[in-house]
This record gives sequence, structure tokens and C-alpha cells, in this order.
Amino acid sequence: MSKIWTPPDPDDWGVVQDIQPSTRVRHLPDGRVMGESRITLTPEAMGELWAGYRCAACLERQDEAFPEFCKAEFCRFPIRAEQQRQMQLDFVGQQPPPLAGFNVEEELDILRQREHRKRPMMTVPKKIK
Ligand SMILES: [Zn+2]
Repeated sequence: MSKIWTPPDPDDWGVVQDIQPSTRVRHLPDGRVMGESRITLTPEAMGELWAGYRCAACLERQDEAFPEFCKAEFCRFPIRAEQQRQMQLDFVGQQPPPLAGFNVEEELDILRQREHRKRPMMTVPKKIK
């Protein structure tokens, strides 16, 4: 019996919302051709991808933004070097298509600011704010 792989963190199980067949293929460095599927991710997961907190190759969550390599042992995708290029390739078939003149760098800056979460060690009671 086959088993569908699920992320080790149960909080991460809802990230892929839909998987549909597609006509796109990926040419692997060794010459093999791999069929690709069109997956639908939650908006939060998309933000994490653009902000470098999620691997574009295997979708594993990362502990820091744009680590040198994906932390998943089976993947080790060079996120720091390749993630942005991979994201641009993967969004060629995006529905709807990206806007002409879409500034990826600017968008990444916005996402980094918006997705950054402070995790203070102590909280300030409302009374003294
Ligand atoms: Zn990965």
C-alpha cells in the first residue's frame, strides 16, 4: 500500500490545497524529463516561498529566510542561490499570469517586511501601553 508523504509538522498539512495535472515538464540535469503538476498553495505558503522561508523545490518550511541549502535531507535545494530563479521559472504557467513589469525584488522586500514576525520574550500588559 502506498502512503502519501505529509510534512513532519502537522500544522503544515493544509499548505497544498489542490494538485492538478499539467502539460509542463522539467528537464533534469541528467537528461531525464519529469512531468510537473500544477499545485495550489495557501496565500501564506506563497508568501513564505517568496520570502525564502519555504523551499521552492520540496515546500519544506525553513528556520531562516533563504538558508544556503534546504533543511530537508532528501532535498538540499540551494535556496540562497537558486530560489528566486526557480520561483520565476515556476510562475511562467501561473493562473492568472504575472503582470508585465512585475518587480520581484520590490515584492520580496514587501513580503519580508510583512511576513517578519517579532517574537518578544515578554509581553507588555495592555494597561501600561
Ligand atoms: Zn527542499
